[in-house]
Amino acid sequence: MFLRELSASLDHIKGVGTELRSAFTHLGVTSVGGLLCYYPRDWEDRSQIVPIRDFQRATVCTVVQVIAHDWFGFGAMKTLKVHVEDTSGQGVLVCFKRPFLENQLEVGKQYRLWGTFFYKYGEIQSSNFEIEAVRDDASKNFGCLMPVYRLSAKLKAGTLRRCMKQALGQYAKPLEDELPAYLIERRGLLPKSRAIRAIHFPASLEELELAKQTLVYEELFYLEIVVAKRAIERRLAPGGQSPDAPVSSLQRRLLERLPFSLTQGQLAALADINRDMDGPYPMARLIQGDVGSGKTLVSFLAALRAAEMGGQAALMAPTELLARQHAENAARLLEPLGLRPAFLTGNIKSSGRARLLKNLALGQIDFVIGTHALFSRDVHYRNLRLVVIDEQHRFGVLQRQAIVEKGDQPDLLMMSATPIPRTLALTVFGDMDVSIIRDMPPGRKPVITHLALQSNETRVYDFVRQQLAAGRQAYFVYPLIEADENKSLKDAESMATRLSEEIFPEYDMSLIHSKLSEEEKRITMENFRQGVIRVLVATSVVEVGVDVPNATCMVIEHAERFGLSALHQLRGRVGRGSEQSYCFLVYADGENNRLSNDGKERLKVMKNSADGFVIAEEDLRLRGPGQIAGIEQSGNIGLSIADLVRDINILEHARADVFAMLEADPELLQSEHQCVAQVLKRAPPFANVAL
Ligand code: ADP
Ligand code: MG
Repeated sequence: MFLRELSASLDHIKGVGTELRSAFTHLGVTSVGGLLCYYPRDWEDRSQIVPIRDFQRATVCTVVQVIAHDWFGFGAMKTLKVHVEDTSGQGVLVCFKRPFLENQLEVGKQYRLWGTFFYKYGEIQSSNFEIEAVRDDASKNFGCLMPVYRLSAKLKAGTLRRCMKQALGQYAKPLEDELPAYLIERRGLLPKSRAIRAIHFPASLEELELAKQTLVYEELFYLEIVVAKRAIERRLAPGGQSPDAPVSSLQRRLLERLPFSLTQGQLAALADINRDMDGPYPMARLIQGDVGSGKTLVSFLAALRAAEMGGQAALMAPTELLARQHAENAARLLEPLGLRPAFLTGNIKSSGRARLLKNLALGQIDFVIGTHALFSRDVHYRNLRLVVIDEQHRFGVLQRQAIVEKGDQPDLLMMSATPIPRTLALTVFGDMDVSIIRDMPPGRKPVITHLALQSNETRVYDFVRQQLAAGRQAYFVYPLIEADENKSLKDAESMATRLSEEIFPEYDMSLIHSKLSEEEKRITMENFRQGVIRVLVATSVVEVGVDVPNATCMVIEHAERFGLSALHQLRGRVGRGSEQSYCFLVYADGENNRLSNDGKERLKVMKNSADGFVIAEEDLRLRGPGQIAGIEQSGNIGLSIADLVRDINILEHARADVFAMLEADPELLQSEHQCVAQVLKRAPPFANVAL
């Protein structure tokens, strides 16, 4: 019997009746197998004595004698206090809602106690404790590692543990291994039946560790089977040949109309895309290219290809501001070629929206650009052939999946300026192809970055004034929209007033932030793009995508408050034209606003590097692997025990084993071999991973 086949109802577990069964349903547990896979979120080590004296170091786990009872509060609030002591000292148990303990805990008798204590009202108190009489028989709740489960109001810790023990007793023994025996041996894993027992009630920390490794490995093994399947099928597929013409005729026409030619990186990415789109499998390609490297244009060329093939293309951007900018560019560049682009957001007025949706469903729109509204339930495509996801790290796997599902296996093109560390990219997105644009459009001068102390802000403002006088434009970015209570930070609203009244009264200026309506944002951006507004005071809403080549100054105040990738993106808003651009990172390092070491490091990295890949690696080093953009939390792809970042070593083992197994015998992909066939049949949740 395999664990996943244990679909028997919980009724079969001794002691579980209707009421308990419904309590379990609340937790999402509906079968015996589901219960056994309801892993603890933690384990309490009750195998070591921790005397009361050591309450600050760890959870107390000791044998106590009850010395007195007393009460405090009145009526319904009346609460029992039980005074206890062990050999190291005294403590007080505050028995909220547990008046019955008065009879259970007798003065003079001994009990095993486990609880978290705090120093309060001159006493060492605990209201969160478990206690049981010391008897002759061995304790079930002490001297061991106790599983801690996610609970609900209707399901108490003790009950859940009891049911789990019972279920393990009835069902764990005959569980068969799912992994091939040779891998269990090679990786030093536990047999499945022992791993399942030990994950709930480990005999030791060592056994717990082995059980975790076993179950994590098994889960990642399945994950990699999904990844490997497509990778291998693609490799085995005939072709992979270059298309006849590297550039199609519509693409050529667009290129001829541009005032510049593509960079080498753009050309190579385009060739990859054209080859993929002609190939036998749907494209799954990530374009990585630094901020400003011209990814949008490449995606437009892909959209042209889709249209030539008689299909529709959709481009999804993370903010409405950015989507609108893309839509305007698409209209300018693609309409003259006969393409019919459209802009779709969530809050387009219903009449216009209805017409747009109708045209989309009829195939009278070739290229639709928008936010996540693109995969709303009421949006239908006639023949969605290409999905482009801009700033892909801003989207979760499920959102990307949702838009892809609007078509029948459409080609997928993702764009990101945030590089994913190579190991993770390979392992998690094992079947995704990557094109890297390393070069920048010619004529760009690297942005000159200056760090400035807040006390020197006047010099920064003076410099910006010269730039404005020369006809350029500037961004000022702040960490807050409006003043916070203690006014410790500059905010965009107050600074907009100060900049326009005191500092640059001679120039037109606007404020933009996320609390404005989309219409207000649109008008502001439009005015800034047209040069009507010379200074834009903003929050990080301008972080992604905004493209105004005449802006040459980016002033980020309280730069110490921004993460590295945000700083890099913000700086990427300038240096987009042929004029020299400047970025000022103004930081506070005063009495009330000490600059942390991390903050200092970040600013230095920004000053010393302009390369997004270097910055991403520094980011990883400074922040640790837990927060890498682009790697979703494991929950999103349906992992229950494994964590892609924490378990990267096991992931690499599982990946190597799976690829070796399937490469040695590709027939396995077709066969009924249980560990492969089973997981492939069970398409979700791992189906998402292929993205
Ligand atoms: P990103 O890769 O950050 O999304 P964009 O697509 O916004 O970059 O492009 C930045 C700017 O560079 C745009 O104004 C675009 O028109 C321009 N651009 C793109 N490709 C080239 C090129 N080959 N030569 C000159 N300018 C280009
Ligand atoms: Mg972009």
